[in-house]
Amino acid sequence: MIARPKTFGNLLTEVVRQRLCVYCGACIATCPVGIILPGGEEPILKGACIACQLCYYQCPRTPDLIPFPMEEFEEFVFRRSREASGMEALIGVHRSIFAARIVDEGIRHRCQDGGAVTALAIQALRSGTFDAVVATVIDPSKPWKPIPKVFTDQKNLLEASGTKYSLGPLITGLGSAHFEFSRRRVLVVGVPCEVQALRRMQSNPFSSHKISEAMAAAIGLFCAESFWLERLMEYIQGRGIEPSRITRLAIKRGRFRVYEGDKEVLSEPIKAMEAFTRDSCRVCQDFTAELADVSVGGVGVPDGWSLVITRSHIGEELVKEAIKAGIMEARAIPEESEGLQLVLRLAKQKRERGGKV
Ligand SMILES: Cc1cc2nc3c(=O)[nH]c(=O)nc-3n(C[C@H](O)[C@H](O)[C@H](O)COP(=O)(O)OP(=O)(O)OC[C@H]3O[C@@H](n4cnc5c(N)ncnc54)[C@H](O)[C@@H]3O)c2cc1C
Repeated sequence: MIARPKTFGNLLTEVVRQRLCVYCGACIATCPVGIILPGGEEPILKGACIACQLCYYQCPRTPDLIPFPMEEFEEFVFRRSREASGMEALIGVHRSIFAARIVDEGIRHRCQDGGAVTALAIQALRSGTFDAVVATVIDPSKPWKPIPKVFTDQKNLLEASGTKYSLGPLITGLGSAHFEFSRRRVLVVGVPCEVQALRRMQSNPFSSHKISEAMAAAIGLFCAESFWLERLMEYIQGRGIEPSRITRLAIKRGRFRVYEGDKEVLSEPIKAMEAFTRDSCRVCQDFTAELADVSVGGVGVPDGWSLVITRSHIGEELVKEAIKAGIMEARAIPEESEGLQLVLRLAKQKRERGGKV
């Protein structure tokens, strides 16, 4: 019997309506007739699907990928899978782990943690090894709504600094980098599920390879969970805070914190934020963006520093270059340190919690 083609209708019933969509934008970016559109917090269909199946086979949350087969993808990305015991069992294939921060204090002050991501993005464009960076900025028409942006010049990179705790269609940015800006060596910054989508696009023989091959490396952000934007903003507004006046959101020391300028205007235990957690996070087991070339988080290091994990040769080279160029500075973290042990605990918790539908 001939199998029926997998259309966007299948994605709707198997992924979107199951609340498993991570809104990575892979389906939107690859639709050859442009009828899958960003719909606020999920993709929507506007037009007649031609059943080409491309959208279905880019999605990182189709039923066959739950739980996500990390080891298979590791073979594709790193040419080996993780060691079965020790740190790799919890945080995946890696080469080095250390604390780092961007040297320029003025820039660091505007970044989320130590500004390691901004430092690496600056180095990527300054050195010419990469010809664009795709990162996430806030939609000018809606406070804290994440949208992707293509950066071809390091001057404007600070526009992407800071964490937006909801998801936006990042991979449409990679599509723009390729089709509109003709870029071929793009550095993409995203959360673990977005990196998983990028790796599926790269490794799947049935894919829009023009888009996925434009990505030369990915920086992955640590992520315990992300939030539904509308619900989160409604809640914050209900506490008397105008979203457009918020200058920074952060999760630090077990609390979700909201700032206007330097003033903290809301601080809630992270447990209280569960009601806003995006449903798709319940099946995710990846805390440290295990398929990225470099992973960066803010946990396990002093305030004003980032925790950096290099995983691939290209990731390690980018880090080395940023340090050599004096853009970023680094400090060793011993394996037995409290900080690293905390990262391992959080990674273990997410592994144990996720993976179930
Ligand atoms: C949804 C979410 C949840 C997170 N949860 C944790 C956590 O539990 N523990 C932890 O240690 N770290 C977490 N992080 C990562 C942390 O908040 C910082 O992004 C990271 O430490 C890098 O800091 P930095 O100073 O180097 O970043 P900066 O130099 O300020 O750069 C920030 C980068 O983050 C990217 N970015 C911001 N928002 C988004 C988004 N919504 N989607 C994709 N990319 C985005 C921007 O493109 C930019 O390149 C989370 C990040 C996100 C987006």
